[in-house]
Amino acid sequence: MQEKGTISINTENIFPIIKKFLYSDHEIFLRELVSNAVDATQKMKRLATLGHYSKETGELKVSVSVDPAAKTLTISDNGIGMTADEIKKYINQVAFSGATEFMEKFKEAKDANEIIGRFGLGFYSAFMVAEKVEIQTLSYQDGAAPARWECDGSTEFEITDGNRTERGTDIILYINSESEEFLEEHRISSILDKYAKFLPVPVQFGTKEESVEDGKDEEGKTKYKSVTVDNIINNTAPIWTKAPSDLKDEDYLDFYRELYPFSEEPLFWIHLNVDYPFNLTGVLYFPKLKNDFEVQKNKIKLFSRQVFITDEVKDIVPEFLLLLHGVIDSPDIPLNVSRSFLQADSNVKKINSYISRKVADKLSELFKKDRKGYEAKWNDIGLFVKYGAISDEKFYEKAKDFLLLTNTNNEHYTLEEYAAKVKDFQTDKEGKLVYLYTIDAEHQHSFVQAAQKKNYDVLLMNSPIDTHFIQHLEMKLDKTSMKRVDADVPDKLIVKEDAPQHQLSEEERNKVKAVFEKAINNAHMKVELESLPAEAMPVTITMEEWMRRMKDMSKLGGGG
Ligand code: ADP
Ligand code: MG
Repeated sequence: MQEKGTISINTENIFPIIKKFLYSDHEIFLRELVSNAVDATQKMKRLATLGHYSKETGELKVSVSVDPAAKTLTISDNGIGMTADEIKKYINQVAFSGATEFMEKFKEAKDANEIIGRFGLGFYSAFMVAEKVEIQTLSYQDGAAPARWECDGSTEFEITDGNRTERGTDIILYINSESEEFLEEHRISSILDKYAKFLPVPVQFGTKEESVEDGKDEEGKTKYKSVTVDNIINNTAPIWTKAPSDLKDEDYLDFYRELYPFSEEPLFWIHLNVDYPFNLTGVLYFPKLKNDFEVQKNKIKLFSRQVFITDEVKDIVPEFLLLLHGVIDSPDIPLNVSRSFLQADSNVKKINSYISRKVADKLSELFKKDRKGYEAKWNDIGLFVKYGAISDEKFYEKAKDFLLLTNTNNEHYTLEEYAAKVKDFQTDKEGKLVYLYTIDAEHQHSFVQAAQKKNYDVLLMNSPIDTHFIQHLEMKLDKTSMKRVDADVPDKLIVKEDAPQHQLSEEERNKVKAVFEKAINNAHMKVELESLPAEAMPVTITMEEWMRRMKDMSKLGGGG
């Protein structure tokens, strides 16, 4: 026995509190311990690279194993290990300082929920599931002796000689009776799949059978045999860690399938890569949207140094981009994120606007490089762009150059192009441009036709977001108003010379008009007589724009 001691902390009963409150998800203890193990191997690698380690490092790896009989779960690595002194420093003091701080805050807080989840206790999260934790470790340093640490979840610990003969660390958890689920193979397997799938160092969990070539039979055919190999659960080099120039489209598509099996192919993607003023890498995909686009949110996965953190990225990704898929990795985001942290963190705000800008740049590039292809995808892209334009001022400023308006002939125009297109025919008496639109070209066919007769263009505004988008455009565009094609406007616009003339005299027209007006008996509805081909309606009845919008909004439930 080398040393027995008391961890210096001013409270006795920290562990029950950790167990009960620290994380709602007990499973994250495994994420913490596996990422500590990965850290230790990466430190080893760095030391070797810098020439501070003269021996061979061997293949650096982490392994996880369960022993249901002994009720233990062990996380092992061949990283840098710790000396007894380092255990005292890093485990008793460093790791515990987090716990101490947690307790202090916990006592002060009026509402315990305020602080729960804000603290990452790292190593000590093991006590959420273990009644006793043992460390067996051997430091990489020359002449280091193996050391062993044990703690039963009280503030008492014990350091003795250890039994490790190879460099590295075993963290052995004696799983408590309420946590026996963590002795089940499939449970551990799924936790690892969730958090460790893209860790940078191979993580082994058990073994698996693999079929390998085994020479040739008499006829010269290749023979196979089954061999037992380590079951490595992770892909150590996911594409977001690579340079875009080293990747082909197929790599991006393969990775998409790996993330979202059975999903339709994405439309395109953006590789994020920034190291100033914060670190961030990632790949964001534009999925093909389904009509019920609401339910597709929260598909982006957030990582910190390849450790999965969460797929609740609401505060990191601008609201309108939550429909995107993919991954974001930033070491500037701590493992133990919580909503309150994210909202307060200034890096997060920068990340948010960076992503928004990057997405705008990519769209702009696509539009400029391949307008045809961009137009072909507009049906899907349009929703994001319009949503973004409405909800993010900065995004709108960029998007106004690649925001397309589509007319009933399925022609696409930028805002600038459209204004130029219609200005000769669709200017009202005050010199305002009047954009006509229909939300349903089929049902409003007669109105669309009547407008086209007068040389007016009609926009198709039939997506779920268009009601709001129309209002936004009106607010943003100078001297422009939007009128639905069945509204009361067209007559006031400048009519082109060669538009068809009425066949009835003015007196006759007034008579017919009066008959209809009397029948309708509503001051907000207007009757207008058109000169149209025989098969079309000679009379149109229109409702004032504001009145119809009120109706539309109340149908939609407004807001948004
Ligand atoms: P953090 O990882 O944020 O530093 P932890 O509580 O997870 O905090 O770990 C505390 C410290 O214990 C680590 O910084 C490291 O020095 C040491 N440590 C934990 N696990 C290992 C390990 N497997 N190998 C070597 N050192 C470790
Ligand atoms: Mg840690």
